[in-house]
Amino acid sequence: MNPPKASPIWHPFTQHALFPQMRAIASASGAWLTDVSGQRVFDAVSSWWVVTHGHCDPHIVEAIRDQAGKLDQVIFAGHTHEPAERFAQKLLNRLPAGLTRLFFSDSGSTAVEVAIKMALGHFRHRGEARHRILVMENGYHGDTVGTMSVGERGAFTQPYDPLLYAVDRLPFPAPGREQATLDALEHLARDPLTAALLVEPLALGAGGMLFYPPAILTEMAAICARNSVLLIADEVMTGWGRTGRFLACDHAGVVPDILCLSKGITGGHLPLAATLCREEIFQSHWSTDRRRTFFHSSSYTANPIACAAALANLELWEREPVQARIDAVSVMQAAGQTKLAAHPKISGARQLGTILAVEIGEGGYLSECGPDLLRFFSTRNLLIRPLGNTVYLLPPYCSTAAELTACHDAILDAADAFG
Ligand SMILES: *Cc1c(COP(=O)(O)O)cnc(C)c1O
Repeated sequence: MNPPKASPIWHPFTQHALFPQMRAIASASGAWLTDVSGQRVFDAVSSWWVVTHGHCDPHIVEAIRDQAGKLDQVIFAGHTHEPAERFAQKLLNRLPAGLTRLFFSDSGSTAVEVAIKMALGHFRHRGEARHRILVMENGYHGDTVGTMSVGERGAFTQPYDPLLYAVDRLPFPAPGREQATLDALEHLARDPLTAALLVEPLALGAGGMLFYPPAILTEMAAICARNSVLLIADEVMTGWGRTGRFLACDHAGVVPDILCLSKGITGGHLPLAATLCREEIFQSHWSTDRRRTFFHSSSYTANPIACAAALANLELWEREPVQARIDAVSVMQAAGQTKLAAHPKISGARQLGTILAVEIGEGGYLSECGPDLLRFFSTRNLLIRPLGNTVYLLPPYCSTAAELTACHDAILDAADAFG
């Protein structure tokens, strides 16, 4: 296939007037994509944060192939199947004991929507009026109307603002301003209408790769617990080892009441999501009264092929030195941070586990240098997709020192050119 000149396809987060030409990708392996001309591109953003072990991992591919010939799809209401059951059990074995129930869906956004519905259903069925959601400034939880409501408002959400529901926002716990976040939470958590605090633990992804310390998360969880406010952890980006531990919550010793997982759940091979919760949230829906049913489904809930990929992913976590690879990438990224921090045009150099982020020059998401940076990295055959002037690396765990050094050096060159 040649790169299409006139395609009917409308691409995500793409201004077609500025970027009319898509790069056509033919294949992928490990941390590399190969385009239709045969040019290799290093996937420094794990194809939008989903790939963990590497592209087309042989064990996961084999599981997909095997499952596709056995059971492709079955309605999940009133039915179940082995890949879903085995995955659920294996995942629960790996997670803290407080989480006992798992609800399947198919994307990060739906995992968060499900979490919000679980929280509100929980209080409604217990006869409590709690329904308000607390979120954090700069948060991102997806692009559906419901998840835009709980995310940061701005250019992305403006046309839809009339539809978005009201939430209460905590200031981001920037260095030196952590107490303001905790004070705001203390105040809002006491409101008898507050149902839940929804946060991305430790790392706010689309909001600009902003990090905050584990102690703040620990403290926020304690405030929620004291006030009977549910803690919903959106680990759609941070889960599956991205921050150096299996969950970002693990750094803080926090067990959320509701946990959202997606992106790395199949190693990045197929769409799937899971929302996990504590037993009492399931129990408040458990009744012979059909009105207390959890009324949520998507057509492909727990698709067997996707569940088989997720199970194979968990098997890799058991069989292979995944944590050692994560640790190795984290060390390389820490070295990169030190190197980048020394550049005069670079600010805010920060690293958390496998993630490294910096700002080049001045800006914001729609900053002028954003498209230039994108093109610059593209000409280097690096898939690095800045959030405005925030440049970050979020690579697959199979990345090597040479590959990451090439990325770090390219960012230094970009700072020379555009900083
Ligand atoms: C990507 C992301 C989502 C949305 O996931 P989709 O699969 O794109 O719907 C939600 N929350 C966080 C933290 C994310 O990074």
